[in-house]
Formats: sequence, structure tokens, C-alpha cells
Amino acid sequence: MADKWTNHKNHIDLVNPANKRNIDVIVVGTGLAGGAAAATLAELGYNVKTFCYQDSPRRAHSIAAQGGINAAKNYQGDGDSNYRLFYDTVKGGDYRSREANVYRLAEVSANIIDQCVAQGVPFAREYGGLLDNRSFGGVLVSRTFYAKGQTGQQLLLGAYSAMNRQINRGKIKSYTRHEMMDLVKVDGKARGIIARNLVTGEIERHSGHAVVLATGGYGNVFFLSTNAMGSNVMAAWRAHRKGAFFANPCYTQIHPTCIPVSGDHQSKLTLMSESLRNDGRIWVPKRKEDAIAIREGKLKPLQLKEEDRDYYLERRYPAFGNLVPRDVASRAAKERCDAGFGVNKTGEAVYLDFAAAIQRYGKEQALTHGLKNADDKEIIKLGKGVIEEKYGNLFQMYEKIVDENPYETPMMIYPAVHYTMGGLWVDYNLQTTIEGCYAAGEANFSDHGANRLGASALMQGLADGYFVLPYTIGDYLSNDIRTGAIPTDSPEFDAAEKDVKDRLDKLMGGNGLHSVDYYHKKLGKIMWNKCGMSRNAKELQEAIDEISILRSDFWENVKIPGSTDGMNQELEKAGRVADFLELGELFAKDALTRNESCGGHFRDEYQTPEGEAMRDDENFKFASAWEYKGEPKDAVLHKEELVYENIELKTRSYK
Ligand SMILES: Cc1cc2nc3c(=O)[nH]c(=O)nc-3n(C[C@H](O)[C@H](O)[C@H](O)COP(=O)(O)OP(=O)(O)OC[C@H]3O[C@@H](n4cnc5c(N)ncnc54)[C@H](O)[C@@H]3O)c2cc1C
Repeated sequence: MADKWTNHKNHIDLVNPANKRNIDVIVVGTGLAGGAAAATLAELGYNVKTFCYQDSPRRAHSIAAQGGINAAKNYQGDGDSNYRLFYDTVKGGDYRSREANVYRLAEVSANIIDQCVAQGVPFAREYGGLLDNRSFGGVLVSRTFYAKGQTGQQLLLGAYSAMNRQINRGKIKSYTRHEMMDLVKVDGKARGIIARNLVTGEIERHSGHAVVLATGGYGNVFFLSTNAMGSNVMAAWRAHRKGAFFANPCYTQIHPTCIPVSGDHQSKLTLMSESLRNDGRIWVPKRKEDAIAIREGKLKPLQLKEEDRDYYLERRYPAFGNLVPRDVASRAAKERCDAGFGVNKTGEAVYLDFAAAIQRYGKEQALTHGLKNADDKEIIKLGKGVIEEKYGNLFQMYEKIVDENPYETPMMIYPAVHYTMGGLWVDYNLQTTIEGCYAAGEANFSDHGANRLGASALMQGLADGYFVLPYTIGDYLSNDIRTGAIPTDSPEFDAAEKDVKDRLDKLMGGNGLHSVDYYHKKLGKIMWNKCGMSRNAKELQEAIDEISILRSDFWENVKIPGSTDGMNQELEKAGRVADFLELGELFAKDALTRNESCGGHFRDEYQTPEGEAMRDDENFKFASAWEYKGEPKDAVLHKEELVYENIELKTRSYK
């Protein structure tokens, strides 16, 4: 396993530099995965066309990433290694990912940090000048590199700068405000895309020798999530309809530390980074009557004595404490709230408390500043300063949204949909089941199994973009050195363009009864209630039936004002929701098929007496890869058996 990647690179076909100049690659998506891939492919000499629906690659959802990016550099000297990162990731994913892929991820993780530092990404540094690290859930070392609470933004600026260099050299043609509406296949191979210019409404044809989809995750199938409002599944779903298998659609990550839902008016949820669990302690009142008094506004959290608080993660999982993986922390919060200990008006919130950390840091600061007799006020002031330095922008965000000062009173948090481990099935080369169509970043299913550890999405997206895809795609493109430019006036392009136009016309032809959001919200409610943090066979079947009915209603009655010519944001949304309405049903079908609990997929029927997920390795040690056959109900399941030769399959424990 440790040599596999090196051996693989040594033996795959290469394209010589002169021939790369004759090859065109389309990269859809310019977040971290796509931006990194596009810049690297162009640097290698390929002609690259990039597409994104935002007005700039800088606005990809990757910009929202807060907490950090993992790498096995062992700067802390705390025993980290490639093997440990590999082990933690496979265990964190509840033994539902591919060993070799995860090992490769660990292996290239250190290169990512070097690459980004060279680009000028301002990672946080320690006093001595070395890069600083913090801890994320599911691990016992500190391996997370960060730039305050804005790691994604800084990394994206790095990738964007690298892209701009290539745009300037003429090696990347960047198409912003363009949405890929379909994949074009010629002789079974991906040879281009149909895109809509979102400003003029024009439908355009673009050809290439290969197409890379780096189009992000589909968490917005739940309507409410921490994802950017525009995040969607359209590109991946269009490829799925053309033959790319969709893997593990039901593996969704519900992040434990988000600002709780406040009502039906909301269109988005806000994450409070997992990095906060380095210093924040999670608790609810020990006694139900205290929880009720807090909910009714008769008691303040600060009035509750230490012995009346239940630090339930520290109690249940002493080894990992507040830094258990996200699926475990989310379920534990739900368990406490369902049992009546929730602390906000809806009863769906727990506390994330920094008082102890403020004291601890304050005392440390007083000592290092030589303030031997510092009083409590001074200590708290110094402690708050440290917390502000580490998480200042997150605290500010919280205060603006909730109107409470989290330096003074504990934050209130609750789990929310955050990330999707499922996505397009890819092989070791990141190629989908369509020849010449690749998927990178959150858009593929790849490395995280049934649960992703914090700070490893950025690692995976950048590993795919900077260090994996640029090598592996050459193996395929080496067959295309004499192909010449792919014409766009072929019958295949004609047919794909016609399909796109017909679909847009069909969307516009609805009876105009309900807005797109009406359907999206309804879908989101079904998904959250029946396919959310816990699932069972009865409700999953109900979800399948309800989504199917909702989808028919959508196509008959949706209301889209305006026209297809020119900018029409309702039309854009409608196209995305139409695909969510298909994906949602496949999601529920996948969850219903998987008669076990693993990671983020928790089936009520399959749990231990302590309420932990209960895997069934004998029958479900596979990645599901669904083949499109028309309606989601007709999708055909293919199983990729997962082989564990370097890691012992165990019951996952964080105690
Ligand atoms: C609030 C928040 C905080 C996070 N914090 C962290 C963190 O600290 N550490 C970590 O590791 N992970 C974090 N994550 C997860 C991580 O940010 C994402 O998984 C990752 O950035 C996804 O990158 P990507 O390049 O795959 O996709 P994205 O950044 O989502 O980019 C998708 C790209 O595809 C384009 N696109 C999509 N569809 C189309 C289409 N049809 N046509 C044309 N273009 C299209 C978009 O325009 C965009 O350019 C966080 C996620 C959230 C929501």
C-alpha cells in the first residue's frame, strides 16, 4: 500500500510536453479542487477551459472553509505519520473507504502545505516562526494547519493566483457565470459540455479531450445547510444521467457545531468551525428542570454551577472528549436534546462554552508576561485576547447572527447538514465510469467513507487537484495525442444542445402555481425528517414515495417568471432543484438499501445498546455505485467490495 502511488505513477502513460499543447481539457468548477487542477494542468502545458457559475473563481464555496487543512507533517512532534493520518481517516469514515486512496491522500498531504506556503498562503505561525497546528475531531494529534477561521479563503486565493498566472499566459480560458447543463459524449467518451451563459442566456458548446468535474457537494438537497446557496448537484447529476455511476449518495455529514435553526424564514445555516472544539466545552444542564428554566428565560447558563452541568461528550468519550468525530458529536447532541435537555426556545441547542479556555489561556499569558499577581479581571482579559486571535472572526459572526456575545456567555449550537461524502464514483485515477470524465474534490465519493474527519475536505480537494489528477489524466490523454481538436458541430453536440433547450422550455412551461423555493423547502423537510441524522426503513420508504410525487408536481406546476433569454436566477434555481428532486430519491433508496449504521448513515434499527452505529461488515462492506436507468426507483446498484489488508476492521470506538 505504501508504494502503490509511486509505482502507479511510475507505470502510467505520460504525454510529452509538446503533445500536451495539442490537448484540451475542460475543468468545470474552480473551487479548491478545480482551481488547483486547472492551474496545474495548464502549467503542465495542456490547454484548459474553466467554468464556474459565480462571477469569479474566488467566490467558489471553498471560500467558506473555516477551520483548517490536515497534513501529516508532525511539526508538533506528537507522533504523527502518514500511517496515522491514513488510520484516523479510515477509522473516522467507519471503515467504508478505500485503503489505497486514503493512504495516497496521507502521503501527498505534506506536499499540499509546501505548495500553498510557496504560493504565499498565510498559515498561522507560532512565536518561533514555524507553522502552527491545532486539533480536529477523531484524532489524538495536532495536524491541522490554519489561517485564523478563513483557511478556505486563503487557500482559494492561492489556487486563484496560480490560475491567473495561466490565464495571463493564455493557457487557461476562464468562463465565469457559465453553468454546465450537460455532458457531451462522443463514441462513449466525454468530449465536451453544453453550458448556459448565465448573463446572456445563450447556450454554448465547448469541446475537449477530457472533462473534469470539480463541482462540489450536494448538501443543499436538504435546502437548509451550511453550504453556499448556489451549491448544487447539476453537473454531477447530468454526468450520472449520461452513464457515470453515483456512489454512496446517502453518506451525508451533519456537522455538530452550527448556529441552530431559528425559524421557517431561513434559507441558510451558519457553521461554527470544528476548530472551536479545541477550546470550547460542550454541555447541557444535568437536570431537566434547569433546561426548562433556561428555555423559558428564567435561568441563565452562567448561573448554573459546574456540578449541575453535563459535559456529555467528556463523560461518554473520555479519550477524545469534545473532539470526537462529527457524526458521533452530532448524534450525542440530538440524543440529549431529544431527551429534553436542549437549551434554546425550540429545545434544539446545546452549549459550546469557552470560559475554561479563557481562564487557562489567561493564566498562561499572565505568567509569560511576568504578571505574577494578575487578578481575575486581568486574566480574563488576557484569555479573551488569545481566543480572539484564534477564532475572532467566528466569534464576530456568531454575535452578528445571534446577538449574544460568546466571550461572555456560551454559544448555542446544533447539528446541521454540512458535507456530502457521496458523489460520482471514481477509480484510482479519479475517472468516473464514463471514459474521459473525471471527478475531483467534494464532487467525487472517494476518500472519506461514511464520515469525513474535520479539515480533510480541503486536503482531499487539493490533493486531487494539485497532486493526483494532473498525473493520472495523462494516462488517458496519451491516447489522444493525434486526435486533433474535437469538433462541436457533430450530431452528439446537436443532440445534447437540443436536450438542454427542451429541458429549459419544459421548466418554463409549468403551470405557475408555486415558486422554486416552495418545492426546494418541501424537499428539504422530507430529507431532514426522514433521511437526516437518523433514518429507518419505514420513513425512508415514505421519503421515496413523497419525493417522487413532489417531483411530478414540480414539473407540472413550478412557476418561473421571465424567459430563457438573458439572466434569470429563478430558472437557474429551478434547474438545480429539478436535479435535487431526482438525487433526493436515490439518496433515500441508497439509505434504505444499506441495512446497517456506519458513520453519518445512522439507521435506528442498527445500533448498539449505547446508541452507537452498528456496522454489518459481512453484508455491507462495499461502496454502492448506482447506475442511472431512468427514474431513480429503477437505478441499478453495483457494489465495489472494499478490501482491508493494512488495517484491522474493528468496532469504531472513541472511548
Ligand atoms: C461553512 C463550511 C466550512 C468548511 N470548513 C472546512 C474546513 O475548515 N476544512 C475542510 O477541510 N473543509 C471544510 N469545509 C468543506 C470544504 O470547504 C469543501 O468540501 C470544499 O471546499 C469543496 O471544494 P470543491 O473544490 O470540491 O468544491 P466548491 O468549492 O464547492 O466549488 C465548486 C465549483 O463548481 C462550480 N460549479 C458547480 N456546478 C457547476 C455547474 N453546473 N457549472 C459550472 N460550474 C459549476 C462552482 O461555480 C464552483 O466553482 C467546509 C464547508 C463549509 C460549508
